[in-house]
Amino acid sequence: MRVPAVASSGDVTASISTCNCPNCGAAFDADPRFSQWCPACEWNLGSEPPGTPRALRRRARERARAERSHARMAARSTAGGRWGAEWVASQVLASLVHLWTLAVVAGSVWLLLSGSVFFAFLGLVGLGLAFLLRPKLGTRGEDPALVAPEAAPQLYALAARIAGELGVRPPARIRVQSGYRTDYTRLGVRQEVELTVGMALWTVLSEPERIALLGRELGRGRNRDPRRGLWLRLALDTLDAWYRLLMPDGGDELMLTRIERPGQYDMLPTSGVVRQIYANAQKALIEEVASRLLRTCALPVRLVRRALHRLVLSGSQEAEYRADDLGARAGSSRAVTAMLDMLFLEESATAYLCQQRALVGHGGVARPDDLAQALWNGLAGYLDSVPDIERERRRRLAARQGTAVDAWHPPTHLRVRLQAGRPEQPAAVPAESVDWPAIHAELEDARWRTAILVLGI
Ligand SMILES: [Zn+2]
Repeated sequence: MRVPAVASSGDVTASISTCNCPNCGAAFDADPRFSQWCPACEWNLGSEPPGTPRALRRRARERARAERSHARMAARSTAGGRWGAEWVASQVLASLVHLWTLAVVAGSVWLLLSGSVFFAFLGLVGLGLAFLLRPKLGTRGEDPALVAPEAAPQLYALAARIAGELGVRPPARIRVQSGYRTDYTRLGVRQEVELTVGMALWTVLSEPERIALLGRELGRGRNRDPRRGLWLRLALDTLDAWYRLLMPDGGDELMLTRIERPGQYDMLPTSGVVRQIYANAQKALIEEVASRLLRTCALPVRLVRRALHRLVLSGSQEAEYRADDLGARAGSSRAVTAMLDMLFLEESATAYLCQQRALVGHGGVARPDDLAQALWNGLAGYLDSVPDIERERRRRLAARQGTAVDAWHPPTHLRVRLQAGRPEQPAAVPAESVDWPAIHAELEDARWRTAILVLGI
């Protein structure tokens, strides 16, 4: 029961056929390159990743929290947002973390000056720890991903123009990485803005969507994200550093090895089995004591870290919605919604790039003269050829799984829903007013560098 049709885009040609759902009988389009699924009854859509009952309950709680935060943001105008009790609590907790760091330093100095060799040694250890775990403002040394301002004046000018429209600081540094992600960081004592753009995402976005992307990232300069506040960010970094120190790799692997049953010894002579079990038991005991000790020391750090994360989380997610609003102001509502919609295709983009890497690795394809152009144009053509039925599957699957860019972002489907519900906004920076060919030329080196990274050659 197949009616072949042909959809073609760029150099990628796909044949779409019609299938009938084995569950409800409804007809749906199918592309042999992707999973078949039924939009009517969601047969074969895919399910949530499996987990323990506890993990599932936690996920359900996170989802309910994300829905509540979405509802709050949807009820507010785009300019809304204020500090609440959670913000005050998080600042108090962050202050306590900094006081703790100060106390470690002061205590260590006191021990160092105590006169006793043993205490002086402890003091030195304490100072060493404080130095290792000190809050860091962030610096970057030699950075191959950096696109220097003098090499890309038009790109920097565009970013500065968008920043001007939004009333935020323009980026002092723009980096281009190979992936599908963007990032916004503040570095150094002057807290300069560093923007990181993923070449894969940049390539597949349309011009207005690129403006929306830059706008939403730069908008993080004024979206009142609690994590961007220096005080809180340094406290979170300090807690992370303590946690990594006390819980290297976590104790989970130890737990797993202890659960294993000794059935593997069935084939050995009995005395050998007993010796083996004793040796294993002794090793496990030592490991367990060490692991428990570390866990006990790490417990307060873990609790404070979790509390601070919890306090900051909803504020951070709401700030990401605000950044989307600022992206809409820069590049229009339509552009920001389309840009967010492209995030659902991250897995498809990654799969395409991995496939190209494998093909080049096995010498399966002749290398074109312009590798970079072939790779990035190929990616854009491929994503362009993804049929609506697959795009819809990705959207619904992401909604079902609550997929987000990371734990600090709201689930992407809620971000799309919020923007779709906002009143239509025109672009403050129209795409027609930008010299795109010049920007394209400025990114030539970055395209080559990232293509070589992706292809592993
Ligand atoms: Zn069906």
